[in-house]
Amino acid sequence: MAHGDEVRWRLSPGGLAAALRGVHADADSLWVGFAGDAGKLPEESRRRFDAELADKRLISVPLTPSELGLYYDGFSNGVLWPLFHYLLDKVRFEASNEWRAYRTVNERFARVVAEQVRPGDAVWVHDYHLALVPGLLRAQREDIRVGFFLHVPWPSSDVYRILPQREEILRSLLTADLIGLHTEAYRHNFIHSAANVLDVDVGVDSVTFQDRTVRVGVYPIGIDVARFEQQNPAIDDAMKHIVSGTPNKKRILGVDRLDYTKGIPRRLLALGRLLEREPALKSTVHFIQLAVPTREKVEAYADLRRSVNELVGRINSQHGSPTGSPLQLLYRSVGDHELLALYRTADVMLVTPLRDGMNLVAKEYVASRVSNDGVLVLSEFAGAAAELDAALTVNPYDLDAVARTIRCALSMTRDEQMVRMRRLRDRVRQATADLWARDFTNDLEQTRPVPRSSLSVPGDLDTLVERVTAAPSRVLLLDYDGTLAPIAPLPVLARPDPALRELLRALAALAGAETHIVSGRPPEVLEDWLGGLPLWLHAEHGVRSRAPGAPWTARAETPPFLERAVELLERHARSTPGALVEKKSSSVAFHYRRSELHLAEARVRAIRNELAQTFGNTVEVLEGHKVLEVKTPGITKANVVEEVVARHTTRPLLFAAGDDRTDEDMFSALAEGDVSVRVGPGITRARYRVATVPEFRELLERLLFVPDVVALNAS
Ligand code: UDP
Repeated sequence: MAHGDEVRWRLSPGGLAAALRGVHADADSLWVGFAGDAGKLPEESRRRFDAELADKRLISVPLTPSELGLYYDGFSNGVLWPLFHYLLDKVRFEASNEWRAYRTVNERFARVVAEQVRPGDAVWVHDYHLALVPGLLRAQREDIRVGFFLHVPWPSSDVYRILPQREEILRSLLTADLIGLHTEAYRHNFIHSAANVLDVDVGVDSVTFQDRTVRVGVYPIGIDVARFEQQNPAIDDAMKHIVSGTPNKKRILGVDRLDYTKGIPRRLLALGRLLEREPALKSTVHFIQLAVPTREKVEAYADLRRSVNELVGRINSQHGSPTGSPLQLLYRSVGDHELLALYRTADVMLVTPLRDGMNLVAKEYVASRVSNDGVLVLSEFAGAAAELDAALTVNPYDLDAVARTIRCALSMTRDEQMVRMRRLRDRVRQATADLWARDFTNDLEQTRPVPRSSLSVPGDLDTLVERVTAAPSRVLLLDYDGTLAPIAPLPVLARPDPALRELLRALAALAGAETHIVSGRPPEVLEDWLGGLPLWLHAEHGVRSRAPGAPWTARAETPPFLERAVELLERHARSTPGALVEKKSSSVAFHYRRSELHLAEARVRAIRNELAQTFGNTVEVLEGHKVLEVKTPGITKANVVEEVVARHTTRPLLFAAGDDRTDEDMFSALAEGDVSVRVGPGITRARYRVATVPEFRELLERLLFVPDVVALNAS
């Protein structure tokens, strides 16, 4: 921190810096962050400052005061912080300058990191201030592992969805290899948010987005226990000082940054209510609130300071006496000894945030209670509540409940205190800050950098075009949805546009070529959309087919199970909002793209069970991208390929393209010299890949320029 001509080093308040300090001390690591505004330092001090930074293996990313205002106070702490803590009235939604600055600063961090990392290195990005860094780093470097840890809650997906920048932030995070959160609930929320905002596939601890799977793990952060268990004469002196200033009193303590998420005003109101109800307590309890200054430039924080001051004044003037006031507010930070003395002299500790990612103060209080007594009152909305199950938990919004719980804490027997505190201390001692960091970094080491998918470079596609156009005869086998036309929210909306019809007409008119549409759609839809074009049409994954202008023929009869399967799926769809059932002549599909994810997953499991019980192995159940299909076993798009090959006396070159699992059947039936193209992400056996439908259509345009044409030799 630059101060005039001098540089002063001070420990950053807050849990993150405290937890990482130990890790950085032993590891072969660089710590990249903002070290304060060194811009105005004279040359000599600046040099000393840089040397000290280098010595501590720190890299400071420079930020101007105006950037700090917009990026740190504005977007990070004016938008993301309140939103992630469910305090929507504090969120500043009109924040385009702030968002721009957020992006700029994230870009700067990513650039600095990218300059430092070597192949195989792991980068651990911390917290909501740097949510775009994983994506920015990944765009430049595939050869590193990227981990991201969020120190605040990940809110429920309904709250996260409110964020205007919800997509950009998720897209970035999902390029990481590992994402860490404090609790199971935050993991659940994160995975839900991803599923609601983007088209992803999810597992219990993973999200797959565009070819890349990120693991999502739960790592509750701990503390440096030894620091809080230390014995030291200076601490004892400070304790004596506190005790002698509050003789014969039960001491209640609050220690928080003065942040509106910490629930300080409500805590004070609850104390006031308790004193009103039990006036006898006025002379027997003493409440100390240590409020550590923070983010003082943000308006909401200045407001909070005013209202806390007012409340303390009001309650003290109401309940105080000539010999003392029940509440004491300290607006400053304290050193370790004083903090420990406060913890150790507190009979009751109030940790009642409205929302808190973890809350280390709760754990520090527990660790410092080497005497195994004392009572922790803990908000159920602090991440720590998931672990500290022997605390007295409380809903901080319910003032009566808080007042009652404080009363209960004040009168708890020493025996009960000790049973609870021992259990709490066991937990805190087991899960330390060091172990937290080690677990995360070990898991990050286990993830391998995902090699860039075989996304085709232009050279590859040139070879493809050459091979296809040079072949004496060729057959194009094209999937429709997701290949020729983008996936539409409702199946009926994927009707071909005029340009697509023109393209297909031109392809079909090429001499020496056949163009087939190989789709999962029913014949009527293909007929309606493409019937007028000279194409071969294959419906329902190859169950029904027709040559240009010829009648439809079936490879299988209407299956006997169909009606009952339709009924079964329709029954489940009625209780699955967003799901829809698509009846075809020989199969039936259950689409759940628009359904709530976990509900749909549970439903698909139930459907699978019921199908197995009802039909055994007389039906085949296919799972595609958010669709489950029940069909006659044994007929796939591969049958179309086999038939095309059988019909030609001289084998043409086959060119097959598709975007999902059913198209893989087609690819698997191809021969060595054929060409297969996967459109979009996902594991595939195709030889080539293009990223999007428009890119695939461009590729098809290039096939129209065929040099020498030889007639197809069809029988
Ligand atoms: N703390 C501090 N200065 C003080 C008092 C406390 O830095 O004067 C520390 C406290 O010991 C704890 C951290 O600030 O490690 C607060 O972490 P917590 O997780 O409770 O809340 P956060 O501030 O990260 O929201």
